Amino acid sequence: MSTAVVIGGGVSGLASAYYIQRYLPQFSKVIVLESSKRVGGWVNTTINPDGCIFEHGPRSLRPVGPQGRNTLQLAEELGLTRDVLPILRSDPAAKNRYLYVKGKLWALPNSVTSLFKKVPPFSEPLIKVLAAEPFHRRSKEPDETVHSFVSRRLGREVADIAIDAMCRGIFAGDCRSLSVRACFPPLHEMEQKHGSLVAGLLFGSKSPKVEASGLVREAVDCKWASWSLRYGLQQLTDAIADAVTNTRGGEVRTHSKCLAIQPKDNGKVVVRTEGDSIEADLVISSIYSRDLAPLLPASLSDLRKELSSLESVNVIVVNLEYKDDVLPVKGFGHLLPSSENGPLLGVVYDSCTFPQHGRKGSPNSTRLSVMLGGSWYNKLLNSDGSLPSGSDLLQMATQAAAAHLGIKARPIRSHVTLQEECIPQYKVGHVKWVADVENKIQQSKLPLKLVGASYRGPAINDCINNARKVIVAMKPT
Ligand SMILES: Cc1cc2nc3c(=O)[nH]c(=O)nc-3n(C[C@H](O)[C@H](O)[C@H](O)COP(=O)(O)OP(=O)(O)OC[C@H]3O[C@@H](n4cnc5c(N)ncnc54)[C@H](O)[C@@H]3O)c2cc1C
Repeated sequence: MSTAVVIGGGVSGLASAYYIQRYLPQFSKVIVLESSKRVGGWVNTTINPDGCIFEHGPRSLRPVGPQGRNTLQLAEELGLTRDVLPILRSDPAAKNRYLYVKGKLWALPNSVTSLFKKVPPFSEPLIKVLAAEPFHRRSKEPDETVHSFVSRRLGREVADIAIDAMCRGIFAGDCRSLSVRACFPPLHEMEQKHGSLVAGLLFGSKSPKVEASGLVREAVDCKWASWSLRYGLQQLTDAIADAVTNTRGGEVRTHSKCLAIQPKDNGKVVVRTEGDSIEADLVISSIYSRDLAPLLPASLSDLRKELSSLESVNVIVVNLEYKDDVLPVKGFGHLLPSSENGPLLGVVYDSCTFPQHGRKGSPNSTRLSVMLGGSWYNKLLNSDGSLPSGSDLLQMATQAAAAHLGIKARPIRSHVTLQEECIPQYKVGHVKWVADVENKIQQSKLPLKLVGASYRGPAINDCINNARKVIVAMKPT
């Protein structure tokens, strides 16, 4: 009987183990190796003693598209249906998103009528931009930056303000270097297939009607915009880990750092940890590509070099809780384009998105998450190159809440987390890089497959769906 080893116990690794148990019966043993003391990776929830929840990593998932539906299906399989907290498309937390530009908070257009009005900070109605879009030329380049793509198609202002801020919110990255093909594949495809985004939206192939049931059906019928879980998103990764452990042959080992993957003559590999050597027929790596590189044999120096070349950014998440409802607006949160205050990326209004995560038994408090750093992390550093202290970072976050939202009170609770190298940056050429890396692995004849945020999308939905695809592709015929 065969053994599969999964390196990394974040959502990608756990989902891979789950799907191996489901689809690859030839593996009687599935071992997840996680170097830290807990599973979940960047999915990391603190439940304070009074029930108030702070998310230090991801906080909400979208239900749409095949990826979104797959995660809902997984949540259902894991028995989490009753704990799903949806945000409806009609909720202010879904409808209202803001930009903070030139010292003011501006609501982004969120209705057809608002497209026809001049809505600051934009200098002209967005309908003018959309009407001109189909007449711009199609690019002949295989890839380009998100900024150059959007400038070409929707104009410089939309790229400089809206798209710049959006890339900071999603990737904590700079739209002037991120790849449109890797970061927003549907936009790239629409231009290639239909010559324009507007034509793609109007005439593109409609997503096939899905025979849905359970949570997927509910999400469609009730028009969900996004969702989380009663005990935060870590409930999802904890539930996957439990399902893997409770299935025969499944094991999730924490404090188990993989140190090396050594090929054997019989086509298998030995996976070494500090205290153990496991002979494996299949290895799934779900860790950051740069962390995988040194685990491979020195003879694969080209592959190691490629894997090491993917950059990622550091993000600081400051969770804040204030007494009472002190938010002046209702919505998901606001973002800042890079033209504003360098390292401050945005603020999520957590108490508005998931009021259910508030403290129990006392009046609703206000919870915010302030995100700092990303590609602008260096701007945060002191003149000697050191990171400001936790209390200085906290002060930056509370000052932002005061300046942007008028919240002058002191927070009653706070938490500062530095997430190092947490979001890989898909720069121009990323799609080709993934193909090159995978070719080199195939040539190496190692029984190794890649999943995780380094390759085909960092969103949780992408991580889970890509893990499923990689495993299903190995299903015996
Ligand atoms: C601040 C922040 C906010 C985000 N917000 C959202 C959001 O709202 N929605 C969304 O969809 N996505 C969001 N994301 C993205 C998403 O959370 C991540 O891309 C995703 O969790 C990555 O999961 P992963 O399993 O691929 O990698 P990881 O979470 O990095 O897991 C890899 C695991 O491998 C372990 N490991 C590393 N090296 C070794 C080794 N040698 N041996 C054994 N184990 C090892 C690590 O300890 C880690 O646990 C956010 C990310 C961050 C950082």
